[in-house]
Amino acid sequence: MKSPLEAPDKQIVEETSAKIEKPAAAVIDTSKMAKGQREALELAEAARDPLEDRGSFASNLFVGRYDFDRIYPYPAQSAEDRAAGEEFLQKLESYLREHVDPDEIDRTGEIPPENFKGLAEIGAFGIKVPKKYGGLGLSQCNYGRAAVLLGSWDENVAALVSAHQSIGVAQPLLLFGTEEQKQKYLPRVAGGEISAFALTETHAGSDPATMSLRAEPSPDGSEFVLNGEKLWCTNGVKAGVLVVMAR
Ligand SMILES: Cc1cc2nc3c(=O)[nH]c(=O)nc-3n(C[C@H](O)[C@H](O)[C@H](O)COP(=O)(O)OP(=O)(O)OC[C@H]3O[C@@H](n4cnc5c(N)ncnc54)[C@H](O)[C@@H]3O)c2cc1C
Repeated sequence: MKSPLEAPDKQIVEETSAKIEKPAAAVIDTSKMAKGQREALELAEAARDPLEDRGSFASNLFVGRYDFDRIYPYPAQSAEDRAAGEEFLQKLESYLREHVDPDEIDRTGEIPPENFKGLAEIGAFGIKVPKKYGGLGLSQCNYGRAAVLLGSWDENVAALVSAHQSIGVAQPLLLFGTEEQKQKYLPRVAGGEISAFALTETHAGSDPATMSLRAEPSPDGSEFVLNGEKLWCTNGVKAGVLVVMAR
């Protein structure tokens, strides 16, 4: 469990008056889960930062620590990886210049349907999705270059494309999904079915523990029924698939 201050315990004790909470015992019973589900959960748990290594450069600033080792040396992209992204980035740049009119999008408040189609055709909705699931299979660094390019042209399209595959369905599934989930959803999102992420509620934002939306299994166990309300869901009105945070 992370401390709200997101810095190593020793540092918090030395530099602040905050009390360190002991991590709670595991509360998730994995014994009745299917093998794939259990493995996905274990992977997610293992991905938590180790106790002594947690915290980013920025979060450490809040406890007065300037840990430049966390940001230097600035990681350089290899020539090989850069070359792998070049073809897509050139296509993306040409597409934006020729087909996306940022002023028109700002005026109308709508991204035209043909832009959704055109971006899907060049693979912009599955940049990091592996080729075997229908994506481009590019690296995080090339994804970052695409985000810079999109942001330099139109912030609306940048938000559409990035929310879709960073907080939307693609990235959580790539990191923690079962093989069955990946095969079912990744080709859909890489092909242009828009995805979104629903966490925020009226009384839950920075602190997701206060959220109240519930997911109840149906009596026959075939689906979950969601009861509650979400807001500020980027891509929400366009999405065919969503990641929904629920109790
Ligand atoms: C453009 C945009 C797109 C968004 N897209 C999505 C989306 O796709 N899906 C989604 O679920 N949500 C989305 N959100 C919502 C966003 O995630 C929330 O705004 C965010 O989680 C903060 O929640 P809040 O606005 O309720 O602020 P609060 O949580 O009420 O925070 C208010 C202020 O208090 C500070 N604060 C809160 N807790 C602490 C603390 N413990 N210690 C110190 N300071 C604290 C915060 O930093 C902030 O300054 C979007 C928001 C914006 C602006």
